[in-house]
Amino acid sequence: MWGNMRRFALTILVIALFLGLPQWARAQSAVQVTDVGVFDDFGQQVTFQARIQAPIPITNASLVFRDNFDEIVRRFPVDVGEDGIVTYRYDITQNVLRPFVTLTFWFEVSLQNGETFKSDNYRVQYIDDRFTWQQQADGTLRVHWYEGDAAFGDALLDAARRSLNAVNGLLPAPADASIDIYVYGSTSDLQSALFLGGEDWQGGHANPKLGVVLLAITPGPGQSIEMETLIPHELAHVMLYRSVGDGYNALPVWLNEGIASLAELYPNPDYEQALMTASRNGSLLAIADMCDAFPLDASRAFLAYAESQSFVRFLRDTYGTSGLFSLASASADGLNCDQGSMRALGTSLANLDTRWRESVLGENVAGVFLRNMLPYLGLLVFMLLIPMIGFFQRRPADDRAR
Ligand SMILES: [Zn+2]
Repeated sequence: MWGNMRRFALTILVIALFLGLPQWARAQSAVQVTDVGVFDDFGQQVTFQARIQAPIPITNASLVFRDNFDEIVRRFPVDVGEDGIVTYRYDITQNVLRPFVTLTFWFEVSLQNGETFKSDNYRVQYIDDRFTWQQQADGTLRVHWYEGDAAFGDALLDAARRSLNAVNGLLPAPADASIDIYVYGSTSDLQSALFLGGEDWQGGHANPKLGVVLLAITPGPGQSIEMETLIPHELAHVMLYRSVGDGYNALPVWLNEGIASLAELYPNPDYEQALMTASRNGSLLAIADMCDAFPLDASRAFLAYAESQSFVRFLRDTYGTSGLFSLASASADGLNCDQGSMRALGTSLANLDTRWRESVLGENVAGVFLRNMLPYLGLLVFMLLIPMIGFFQRRPADDRAR
């Protein structure tokens, strides 16, 4: 029966986790769960199987699992065959699973005499098995790739190490949890993985909660620049999540993307030009307008990245990494863009925007403001002068009266 499966990318990792033995343990010695296996057919289905045997007839059996992304517990009744074999096919086309999540699963059994039983927990990672991944690791930092030779893997791991150092210079993130960087050989391969995982296409992709980064880098002359841009950027998202927790999703987009862009080892040579042109044309985006989202239009989005990186650098240089982290923490606590700025840095976002434009882009915002206000100021002075003229004209008369 199992031989009919389209793919035999067999279990990468099935580990029995000998967790506690709660009330379920009454029938533990009697019920045996063996031959546990998982077959995944990426983007299609995951098949769970096991052999469950008990000396007393089994009335009900279920497969239960949850993944480490949304942590929803899913429970499915399974039939136990005469030989004790149970099989459950989880249809991913109907219920999407994120690529590279880890599934924790177990079996629950009820016996005819009323006893219940829960098996050990098992774990399996839902890997994109359409490719044969190679791996290199340095401690908890792992890189995976399938296109390119061992030297390509060396370069990836080296870039990942340097990226982590750069990120650690920006964020006080804990370094103990593992990070997996999966490097696809082409954007179309990555695109299809994200599509099968129910996610939109993006240039790079981090799933910070899982500690998983997905990238597309084709081995070749451009690989170094791509490694030094994409790896630190996505790693920064992961470490930012680890430093602020679930409040990560509430961070202003300019702050999140600004920190990630600032971590890049290879500075984008076009950012400076984009900033200067927009500054000259008066077409800069207000930082406050990039709290919730970046523009959809590609060139405006490019400018948004350039501005965010420059603005975050300005904040880092002015308030230090501790100021930057305070701001991230305040935002993660649920304060909005301006409240976060007031609490963490003691000033409004608009004021910081002005100071950034003046000190980094050389704009004279106060001067421009004054120039724009000049006609009104003239009018104001004129209106103040009229009563003064009247006052001076009346003075001689007043003197005579006294
Ligand atoms: Zn990003």
